[in-house]
Amino acid sequence: MSVSTDFSVAIAGAGLSGLCLAQYLTRAGIDAHVYERDPGPFVRRQGYRIILNRYGLEALRESLPRPLYRLALSTGDEPGGHLRFTDSRLRDAFTITFKDEPHATRQVDRLTLRSILQSGLDGRIHYGRTAVAVDSGDPARPRLRFAEGGSVPAAVVVGADGVGSALRTQLMPEADPANTGMVGIYGRSPLWRHGENVLPDALRSSGVLAIADRPGRAFFFTSMRFGERPQEAFARLAPGSYAPTGDDYVMWALLLPQEEVPVDVRGHLLAQWKLAAQRSRDFHPLVRRLVDTAEVDATVLNHFATGQRPRRWAVPRATMMGDAVHAMPPFGAHGGNTALRDAALLGRRLVEARTSGTPVEKAIASYQNEMVPYAFRAVDTAARLMRRLTGGAAAPHWVLTRLLPRLHPVTVPEA
Ligand SMILES: Cc1cc2nc3c(=O)[nH]c(=O)nc-3n(C[C@H](O)[C@H](O)[C@H](O)COP(=O)(O)OP(=O)(O)OC[C@H]3O[C@@H](n4cnc5c(N)ncnc54)[C@H](O)[C@@H]3O)c2cc1C
Repeated sequence: MSVSTDFSVAIAGAGLSGLCLAQYLTRAGIDAHVYERDPGPFVRRQGYRIILNRYGLEALRESLPRPLYRLALSTGDEPGGHLRFTDSRLRDAFTITFKDEPHATRQVDRLTLRSILQSGLDGRIHYGRTAVAVDSGDPARPRLRFAEGGSVPAAVVVGADGVGSALRTQLMPEADPANTGMVGIYGRSPLWRHGENVLPDALRSSGVLAIADRPGRAFFFTSMRFGERPQEAFARLAPGSYAPTGDDYVMWALLLPQEEVPVDVRGHLLAQWKLAAQRSRDFHPLVRRLVDTAEVDATVLNHFATGQRPRRWAVPRATMMGDAVHAMPPFGAHGGNTALRDAALLGRRLVEARTSGTPVEKAIASYQNEMVPYAFRAVDTAARLMRRLTGGAAAPHWVLTRLLPRLHPVTVPEA
């Protein structure tokens, strides 16, 4: 395919949305380049799974070449399954059942998804380039500037640099995310031990959110089982691309108030894991075993923030996508899906503009007008769910931890 360079797009951030947009544009013959702060593609393990809903899956289907989309589905977990809400002893309060359809909801491994999104973008992802600003002296040809020195010109600049975005203050003034006061310590543990699944039969196809008696604390876990081993699936559908090893695992997260996390724990994986082990002692023994058997170097500490609606967009030929605009707590699994949805929408608008000759500024404004309402609905939903499920609201907390579990038989005996 021939690539037109007079309509070039510079994207800051090689995360889910940045890579998805690059795939979309490259497929349509638009010259897109991604500039990533990390020095290489897999410097962080990011070893957790992500649930894709119909928006995320649709965005991938629209953006990726067919074999790469098939690769995402074939390496993903089986469709369907449940999300159980329980008390700290894993007694059910209520359960949500996901549709058992291949394109409705799919759990995929994040590292594998990232690898899929990078496939075929050779020479278009530039590592060790930290975006710091957009120079718009020439409004028709903005330049993305880097901390390491230098800048690149483009017809359009896109900030996809995640929750701590360096470009947000300039492109979306007065819209820094608000701190929610909650954090998550994430970890992963092997799903198989001595040939046995560590989860009891009743929980094999379930994610579980166990809500502690003490308001503000909860524990989430779910297994990630690869449908097809990534190395085999990549060899068939994307030969030459990096394929992660793909050992099944349990991803877990301890959610707790920020004030319970000592400052000296930040940045120290072992100390974070120890804190998780200590703070999950009051949960069911299965929860404690998961934390005890974790791979310590996969521990991640995350502060939950909620994005603020942008009041204005300051640079007409620059825009933003994903967590950089609409950070949200990880309740309801909307963050990544919304980021992918943004990428497909912006890709569509830019490709339409190139085809129809619509001014780029208009295409960008149309993307922003459509994105802000759905993205901030998701932010509001995630924030509300967080309050309800972690005890920010007293009545739902009492119903979830005291009333409903008494009405159900024990799901996982403690023996
Ligand atoms: C443990 C966990 C589980 C989650 N589970 C789900 C889920 O099940 N479903 C779901 O929908 N969402 C989930 N999310 C949320 C989801 O991961 C994020 O919403 C999503 O990754 C946002 O994508 P993004 O492209 O905006 O940013 P990111 O994927 O965070 O990518 C941003 C990229 O920009 C780079 N960068 C940062 N600053 C700069 C800079 N100045 N210059 C250049 N590059 C820069 C970063 O290194 C990174 O590569 C989860 C999040 C976590 C932490």
